[in-house]
Amino acid sequence: MGKVLIIGAGGVGQVVAHKCAQVPEVFEEITLASRTKSKCDKIASQIKSKINTAGVDADNVPELVSLIKDVKPDLIINVALPYQDLHIMDACLETGVNYIDTANYEPLDEARFCYKWQWDYQKKFEDAGIMALLGSGFDPGVTNVFTAYAKKHHFDEIHELDIVDVNGGNHGQPFATNFNPEINIREVTAVCRHWENGKFIETDAMSQKKSFDCPEEVGTYNIYRMYHEELESLVKHFPEIKKAQFWMSFSENYLKHLEVLQNVGMTRIDPVIYEGREIIPLQFLKAVLPDPSSLGPLTKGRTCIGCICKGIKDGKEKKYYVYNICNHEDAFKEVQSQAISYTTGVPAMIGGMMVMKKIWSGKGVFNMEQFDPDPFMDALNRHGLPWKETFL
Ligand code: NDP
Repeated sequence: MGKVLIIGAGGVGQVVAHKCAQVPEVFEEITLASRTKSKCDKIASQIKSKINTAGVDADNVPELVSLIKDVKPDLIINVALPYQDLHIMDACLETGVNYIDTANYEPLDEARFCYKWQWDYQKKFEDAGIMALLGSGFDPGVTNVFTAYAKKHHFDEIHELDIVDVNGGNHGQPFATNFNPEINIREVTAVCRHWENGKFIETDAMSQKKSFDCPEEVGTYNIYRMYHEELESLVKHFPEIKKAQFWMSFSENYLKHLEVLQNVGMTRIDPVIYEGREIIPLQFLKAVLPDPSSLGPLTKGRTCIGCICKGIKDGKEKKYYVYNICNHEDAFKEVQSQAISYTTGVPAMIGGMMVMKKIWSGKGVFNMEQFDPDPFMDALNRHGLPWKETFL
């Protein structure tokens, strides 16, 4: 059907490459490019079919444009870091190629999560006649599709939305993050924002906690309220939502380490002079923490991520829960990555499939919930992330 260029050869890039290779009728030619070409080659060597590889600095738009002109892809799946989003979108505009990512743009020097920067590309993408699909991971991504599916099939109006992300896995390390440590820590330490009665309300990071019983014996976990980018697009596209919150589980051990790291200044993102040169403490911390991709063989247990919706259907109140459970060890057996990378990489591939097959199409910049959720939900069942629904 066409050619895909995947940018970023980290934990998620590895899963996207494996999963695209499993659907050769859609992704006929796959190129994996990243800053460090040897990481692309290592991933390509795990996969039986041919994966082309290339080195590219995605912050350098002319370099990227020249790679795109060389590869001539129909689609770019950006699974580098959020800092690269706008540069890759600029290169897509220059070359007329469709774009997908899994995380909204963030400036390097400010942990601010908002879609404005990317939504501002709407007219440019429209004029260029191409499409950008934003946030095609699990959360954001599947959580947006779950909400759209709930609205389409079960509600006239959703009034309350709780997105709950539990990682019931254990990697046995004293402290490690399951995806890029810099992005993870910026997200977790940011001020919490939730939507209530028409506006976002700010509270201290991690100041709200509750206990959550996961289905299918995944276990009971403490979940903490935090800001997550899909809240912004979901309350825009479902304006009837009165309250929307995002919750994530953290172990006591993770929180204890994070508190100490914050207290000693290691999570700062402003420059500090060390031995005559500037360093960013959080970037240095990333360099000494375990590489998330090294956690694959160590992680046991399951993730459980889903949406709880409250609202009305035919005048009656309803409460509904839709979720996926993903086993870390099964993910590792299939693609040599743990479930956090797996649950992000599979939806990125499925988003790619929706665009390549023109099942989801349009000109401009789109969030996942703007399209028909049904084909995406079917594809989740077929490509490794089966979901279940229940009425509470
Ligand atoms: P990693 O840090 O493991 O991988 C990032 C990759 O991007 C690395 O290979 C890195 O190269 C490459 N990269 C960084 N800068 C550049 C650049 N300038 N040019 C080219 N390549 C570059 O991250 P993850 O795989 O864990 O995460 C990837 C993305 O997925 C992130 O944006 C993250 O926020 C997102 N994510 C989304 C989730 C969701 O559910 N929506 C959940 C988890 C993650 P190098 O190896 O040389 O450093």
